[in-house]
Amino acid sequence: MSSRRDEMLKEMGLWPRWRLRQGDAPLGGSGSAGDSPAAAPLVQGVHSRGYLPHLKAEGGVYFVTFRLANSLPGDVLRQLETLTPEQRSSQIDEHLDAGYGEAWLAVPEIANALRNALLHFDGSRYRLQAWVIMPNHVHLLIEPLGKHSLSEVLQGVKSVSAHEANRILGREGAFWQPESYDHLVRNSGDFDRCREYVLQNPVKAGLVSAAHEYPFSSGFRGASSIAAKHVPGRAGGAPALRDDRRARIMRMDWSELKACVASCVDCELHARRNKTVFGVGDEQASWLFVGEGPGADEDAQGEPFVGQAGRLLDSMLAAIELKRGHDVYIGNIVKCRPPGNRTPQPQEALACEPYLQRQIELIKPALIVALGKVAAVNLLGREATIASLRGKVHEYRGTALIVTYHPAYLLRSLPDKAKAWADLCFAVDTMRGLKERVTTPI
Ligand code: SF4
Repeated sequence: MSSRRDEMLKEMGLWPRWRLRQGDAPLGGSGSAGDSPAAAPLVQGVHSRGYLPHLKAEGGVYFVTFRLANSLPGDVLRQLETLTPEQRSSQIDEHLDAGYGEAWLAVPEIANALRNALLHFDGSRYRLQAWVIMPNHVHLLIEPLGKHSLSEVLQGVKSVSAHEANRILGREGAFWQPESYDHLVRNSGDFDRCREYVLQNPVKAGLVSAAHEYPFSSGFRGASSIAAKHVPGRAGGAPALRDDRRARIMRMDWSELKACVASCVDCELHARRNKTVFGVGDEQASWLFVGEGPGADEDAQGEPFVGQAGRLLDSMLAAIELKRGHDVYIGNIVKCRPPGNRTPQPQEALACEPYLQRQIELIKPALIVALGKVAAVNLLGREATIASLRGKVHEYRGTALIVTYHPAYLLRSLPDKAKAWADLCFAVDTMRGLKERVTTPI
């Protein structure tokens, strides 16, 4: 029986996918979820938060656009007010792609910060089906998960990224236009059309000649490409490959994961490695220590933290009565050595991230200790200084995380050893609190 809410959804042409999956007929038709309405246009801006009522459909997938605060000049906005919502939507896109206003998102550091913010809760609070960061606006195809609403998700991403972008630019004030435009995806035909629109936007705007060349998009393939041989039986486009790769890794057990990493060629780092460095230790450890990437010794031996920095890490563990392999697991952000021990590039960390995420899912540690800024920033998904992150309990996908210095840094900066000792004491206290919380009946 239709509720008044369902009637409203029908009237507005917003019959959600979850309804279709339950076998209800789509608006004006009798097909299945795979049906594509005959002439359903790609209309965005149907909902403009703050101007029109918004209906949240649980399980729905949304095509969302949000843009920089100054991306459309006043005279253009006044002209747009005379148009119908559909005309306005298409005109807005044309103006955005023409590059009016500032192009702050073309600054790689800002685009990286936004990408990190977007990907941070992908898979936990929402599922990103496709995304693109254009120079002055962003398109997402996004499915909020659980109790998380689209408004809350967008607010979080915009707030974190605005703060970081303003810091990078050395400015204050509004970074994003307050409202976002969202369109509830009607069915799989609509979904495919929206995803294509998102991925092809950089091509349409003349930024690249093929979607896979644009680095700030879910369609980016990187120079080495995520090889199709890793996705047997799929000859589909780039987004499908990437989505499939992550999903496949998330289903792996330990032996499959180790074999996959050992043969991985999914980023440039594979080309000059001697050995992949998977990680080592107790696979059911309470403590997980995460560093940046392998150095020369690790690359030669295939084990993390085995050189001078490794010996210091062992001493740090011993100081808090821990020992490598005993309730302790040690891993890195990337599994292959960056040449010359340089910092891993964002696309390398991104390519390797599903492996670490799966390791963490399998280990289920009580506490993660991020060793150094690179580990912390990649795990937390936002730019920050070590000083601002130390002494606080953060969270990685529901697991407590604290931050301290990388042992290699401590070898060069002896005065900071005292601070590292304070961090270790804080870690011990945090772990004690976590264990008490588990054993104390409510
Ligand atoms: Fe693969 Fe990670 Fe090595 Fe890159 S660093 S080749 S993603 S295992």
